[in-house]
Amino acid sequence: MKSVKVAVVGAGVVGLSTAVCVAETLPECSVTVLAEKFSPDTTSDGAAGILLPMEFPDISIKRQHEWFKNTFDHLLAIAFSSQASEAGVFLISGYQVFKDLPSEKTPFWADVVLGFRYMTDQELKRFPDHKFGQAFTTLKCECQSYLPWLQKRLLAAGGQVLQAKVSDLQELALDFNAIFNCSGLGSLSLLPDQCVYPVRGQIMHLHAPWLKHFTRDGDGSTYIYPGVSSVTAGGTRQQGDWRLELDNQDAEGILERCRRLEPSLKSARVTGHWVGLRPARETLRLERDELKIQGRVVPLVHNYGHGGCGVSVSWGTALNASGLLHAALGEKMLHARL
Ligand SMILES: Cc1cc2nc3c(=O)[nH]c(=O)nc-3n(C[C@H](O)[C@H](O)[C@H](O)COP(=O)(O)OP(=O)(O)OC[C@H]3O[C@@H](n4cnc5c(N)ncnc54)[C@H](O)[C@@H]3O)c2cc1C
Repeated sequence: MKSVKVAVVGAGVVGLSTAVCVAETLPECSVTVLAEKFSPDTTSDGAAGILLPMEFPDISIKRQHEWFKNTFDHLLAIAFSSQASEAGVFLISGYQVFKDLPSEKTPFWADVVLGFRYMTDQELKRFPDHKFGQAFTTLKCECQSYLPWLQKRLLAAGGQVLQAKVSDLQELALDFNAIFNCSGLGSLSLLPDQCVYPVRGQIMHLHAPWLKHFTRDGDGSTYIYPGVSSVTAGGTRQQGDWRLELDNQDAEGILERCRRLEPSLKSARVTGHWVGLRPARETLRLERDELKIQGRVVPLVHNYGHGGCGVSVSWGTALNASGLLHAALGEKMLHARL
């Protein structure tokens, strides 16, 4: 019997992952995703989708390692299944190169990706501006395929989706027994949470089918990620910049930096551009809160502020968020019995 009505606000990679986790692991819950925008119009849709976490302050490395590992393992299983091409998930190998020695040569996620090692001198010869490099195999999760696939999985688990802009969580609590806030940048006005801000990212798509290996500058400024139908070349990281229009100067800078890193791109044709706003926050917010309405206490679980690595930790944070609801429901049942 599905006696707990759950609303998930947001249909990006964080919201849909959370919705699927709840629908599949908490049988007493009926899940409805409410979102202003669905695929292909979310920020998640444009993300390059490379699995590579960043480090959030004030969150233990152990917890961040778990989020990444759970996401990696979940997507690796998909990559090895017959669902891989429909879900848009596949393994990709490449290099992360550094102009200066990084403070940590072995990052906290090194044991999660496959075959992590330092690059040899011979490999580094291709990168005369760089002194040090890491070679590893990770995953690429292309959200234009992955989000519709997740949505299908949600519907198969009995979930529902509804296009709607939520302007008041308190009002939503009138109709639901629990709410997940996975609204990304939307949390700035919805809560409102003034700690949320955009980090503008501009990328371009290139026709360069000879490239199969990714290359990324360790400072995150420049990256070349081959995908199913094009190569993603980036990027920019402009804090507090809300512009969604294409900036021609940014495009020229991206092309120039990427060609310096991978000279064969001089022969590549530009096939498109995209601009997105990373939903950034000083630190990711994943915690339990509550709303009080008409004498009822409605659990509210926040899961937003994933910045530049929402795809990379999507499943891990979704599992963590659904665990918080599980605990809240357990406590409610206990109180009801007392
Ligand atoms: C250029 C670029 C490249 C990137 N590359 C990578 C990468 O390689 N790897 C990686 O891990 N990450 C990458 N990212 C980051 C990644 O895109 C984000 O971390 C991720 O998309 C965040 O997902 P989300 O679901 O929180 O937000 P979103 O995808 O923005 O989804 C938010 C959802 O909430 C809904 N919403 C908001 N407010 C309301 C409201 N009031 N009512 C109803 N619905 C609401 C929206 O409509 C939407 O459905 C990249 C980002 C950019 C811009």
